[in-house]
Amino acid sequence: MDAEQLREYGHKMVDFIADYYKNIENFPVLSQVQPGYLRKLLPETAPTHSETLQDVLEDVQTKILPGVTHWQSPDYFAYFPSNSSVAGFLGEMLSAGINMVGFSWITSPAATELEMIVLDWLAKALKLPDEFLSTGQGGGVIQGTASEAVLVVILAARDKVLRRVGKDAISKLVVYCSDQTHSSLQKACQIGGIYPENFRVLKADPSRDYALSPDTLSEAVSHDMATGLIPFFFCATIGTTSSTAVDPLLELGKIAKVKSGESNSIWFHVDAAYAGSACICPEYRGYMNGVEEADSFNMNAHKWFLTNFDCSALWVKDRSALIQSLSTNPEYLKNKASQENLVVDYKDWQVPLGRRFRSLKLWMVLRLYGLEKLQAYIRNHIELAKLFEELVAQDKRFEIVTPRKFSLVCFRLLPPPSNEDYANKLNHDLLDSVNSTGKLFISHTLLSDRYILRFAVGAPLTEERHIVGAWKVLQDEAATLLSKC
Ligand code: PLP
Repeated sequence: MDAEQLREYGHKMVDFIADYYKNIENFPVLSQVQPGYLRKLLPETAPTHSETLQDVLEDVQTKILPGVTHWQSPDYFAYFPSNSSVAGFLGEMLSAGINMVGFSWITSPAATELEMIVLDWLAKALKLPDEFLSTGQGGGVIQGTASEAVLVVILAARDKVLRRVGKDAISKLVVYCSDQTHSSLQKACQIGGIYPENFRVLKADPSRDYALSPDTLSEAVSHDMATGLIPFFFCATIGTTSSTAVDPLLELGKIAKVKSGESNSIWFHVDAAYAGSACICPEYRGYMNGVEEADSFNMNAHKWFLTNFDCSALWVKDRSALIQSLSTNPEYLKNKASQENLVVDYKDWQVPLGRRFRSLKLWMVLRLYGLEKLQAYIRNHIELAKLFEELVAQDKRFEIVTPRKFSLVCFRLLPPPSNEDYANKLNHDLLDSVNSTGKLFISHTLLSDRYILRFAVGAPLTEERHIVGAWKVLQDEAATLLSKC
C-alpha cells in the first residue's frame, strides 16, 4: 500500500461516494436491468496492463450503478433496512486500512478486546441480563449475519445435548420454531445434521398477530418427549421477517425449561435481527421481557443501527458451549496467551478462521452518535411508519393487515367487492407496477395465504416527504389497476 497513492485515490473515492449519496434520489431504487446485462458491457478477460482509477470510476458510473438496487435510497422500503452512516462507513474504512485478521487474541489483541467491550456496551444498552456479559461465563461476538449466528448456536446446542445423551442420538434431536421464523434456522439445521423430519415448524397464531402460542409449543414438546424424541432447541423471534410479530419470550422460555427439566433444558435462542435495535428505547424494551430465559440472543446492527453491513451481534450465556463445539488447536496457531487460557480467541466462536475488525465500526457508531441520538433515530423511523400507516388507513381502498409494532407496515389493496379471489393477483400487480416506476421499492409476503405488501421504513435518509411521495405513487398505481378491474 503506497501511502501517497492511497491519499490521492482515497480522496477521489470519498468524493465519488459523497456524490453518490448526494444524487442517490435520482437513481431508480430497484435496479431495472435485465439478467446478464453486465457480461455484455465488460471485457471477456482481465486487463493485461494497469488502468487508471478514473477509467474504473467511469465504468462504475455507467455500468455498475445501473445494476445496483439502492438500499441507501430514502425511497427504499423493501425487506428490512440495511443501514449505512458516516460513522459506520469510517469504521469500515479504518478496518480496511488496518486490514488485520483477528482470529486469535494474539493476532491483534485490540480487535478481540474491543469486540468484547463494545458488545458488553451494547448488551447493557439493551439491558440484557448480566449473564450475557463477557465478564462472566457468557459474552458477545460479532458474526457476519444472523444466519451465521443461529448456525453457531445450533451447533453448540446440538453438541451440548449429544455430550449428555450420546452421539448416536442425533436422529432424535428436535428443533422448534414457528412458521414465521426466518428460514436461516432451517438452513442451520440442514448444515447441523438435524434430521429434516425433526424440524418442527409450528403454526403461529393469526389471532395473536402471528406470534407463537405457548400452548402450541407445549403440546409439540410433550408429544415429542412422549415418543422418545429429544427436544433440544427452540427459536423465538422479536420482530418476525414477514410482519414483525413478537413471540411471548417469557412463557415460551419457561416451557423450554420446565418441560425438559432445568438441567436438560432446551436451548432457547432469541432472534431479534431487525427489531433488536428498537429495544435500546425504554418504550420498546418490553418486547424483550423473558430474555432472561434465553441461552442466546441476536440482533443485526447492520439492519437498523447505523452500522454498515456486516455486523450481527450474538450473545450467549455459556461461551464454553460454543467453544467446545467450534474450537480447533493446530500447532501453527499455538501461542502462550491461548495455551494459558488467558484470552478469548474468537476463531472458536464462529465458523471461519479469519475475521475482520468489525467492532471498529460499531464502536464508532456508538461513540459518534451516542445512545440518545440512536434512540431518536429509531423513534423517528417509527413515527414515519406511523404516518404511512395513517395514510393507508384513511384510504378505504386499502387495509392494514397486522397492527404495526415497529417501523414495518403490512397492508394490501382491497379487491373490488365480492372478488376476494382476485386480491392476491391485484396486490402482486401493484407491487410490480410500483417497483417498476423506480420511484420506490417495497417487498411482499404471504400471511394466511394472503399476498401482503410490506413497507419497511428504516433507510437513514428517509424523511416525511419520501413517505408522502411513496404513498402518492402507491395510490396512483392502485387507481390505474382498479380502473382495469
Ligand atoms: N432473522 C430475521 C428476523 C430476519 O428478518 C432476517 C433477515 O431479514 C434474518 C434473521 C437473517 O438475517 P441475515 O441476512 O443477517 O442472515
